[in-house]
Amino acid sequence: MSVLELVRPDLRGLRGYSSARLEAGEAGLLLNANEAPDSGVPGAGLHRYPQPQPAALVSALARTYGVRPEQVLVGRGSDEAVDLLTRALCRAGQDRVLICPPTFGMYQVCAAVQGAAVDSVPLQAEQGFALDFAALRAAVTPTTRIVWLCSPNNPTGGELPRAQVLEFVADMAGRALVVIDEAYGEFGDAPSYAGELERFPHLAVLRTLSKAYGLAGARIGSLLAHPELIALLRRLMAPYPLPTPCVDAALTALAAQPRVDAWVSQCVQERERVYTSLRLLPGVRQVWPSAANFVAFRVDEATTTWRGLAARGVVVRDVSHYLGLAGALRVSMGWPAHNDAFLDALRNVLTTPVRGVADPQTETGVA
Ligand SMILES: *Cc1c(COP(=O)(O)O)cnc(C)c1O
Repeated sequence: MSVLELVRPDLRGLRGYSSARLEAGEAGLLLNANEAPDSGVPGAGLHRYPQPQPAALVSALARTYGVRPEQVLVGRGSDEAVDLLTRALCRAGQDRVLICPPTFGMYQVCAAVQGAAVDSVPLQAEQGFALDFAALRAAVTPTTRIVWLCSPNNPTGGELPRAQVLEFVADMAGRALVVIDEAYGEFGDAPSYAGELERFPHLAVLRTLSKAYGLAGARIGSLLAHPELIALLRRLMAPYPLPTPCVDAALTALAAQPRVDAWVSQCVQERERVYTSLRLLPGVRQVWPSAANFVAFRVDEATTTWRGLAARGVVVRDVSHYLGLAGALRVSMGWPAHNDAFLDALRNVLTTPVRGVADPQTETGVA
């Protein structure tokens, strides 16, 4: 069965916009795209529209992720792939997606924008946020189009058990697209699910340069999937999604893999150090093991603690409103000195009486 059978019937035959750059390439005297003859920023070469999917970037990403170039769609962050997949597969008012909260918020936001219903199989908070795969199977309906799995998961940091994920993917053949979001894959030990794409046409993997590669500002993310699905999404997507300076930045970062590897191993060391330090801090009730570049932990009063940290100049994420995460905060790993500053500030907040006059800063104006 073709993966295109999971795509909205009205989009399967869409031809897409034929851009000047696609029609004629970049050779010759280019008078075909209503561009200016010179760059608005002298010397920057920005007067030309970029390639929709620059071949050099697509092949560098394919090499990095161990897939073929025709299995790669490059977008404005992997966020764009979440949106494109939702729009391409879900008919408004009819089709559904399945998520496992607490998890990354964009799966639900994109479903809401598209008018797709969201079904949830919560991770089991009491079992370290394990996933009940039997419940997940039971929640798949004939109109479920996408199952979003995030491993390592944001905001909890845990990884899903590989054997059970693969068994589930096998079960979903012809029924739903299973998307595994590996935004934090570089920080874990598990091999990428990209290696399984040849076996499963209904499997897709998300990767990004925003986290391990330090390029969140360049907005470069990848969808790895069956070539038929990639080709269809290229026709749906904006004609020139990737700004030239961002493409250049991505090529530079991908060519400096040893630098990325060094940061990832330092970050993993720091994560383990912060995990251990948090477990020893009085007032920290729980710390979840993480395979990502952040650590989630529980305190008695998340919002008060967040404010206390902010008043001391340290901004973490309050994730206490997520399902199963009451009292939880999430801290991203910085340089060792940053992490020390966080740990010192947290120790200070948790040992300072909230209503004490000793520290008038505790409650000052941080919204
Ligand atoms: C950060 C993040 C993304 C988004 O990454 P971009 O490529 O920057 O859009 C996707 N999924 C998860 C789980 C994330 O945490």
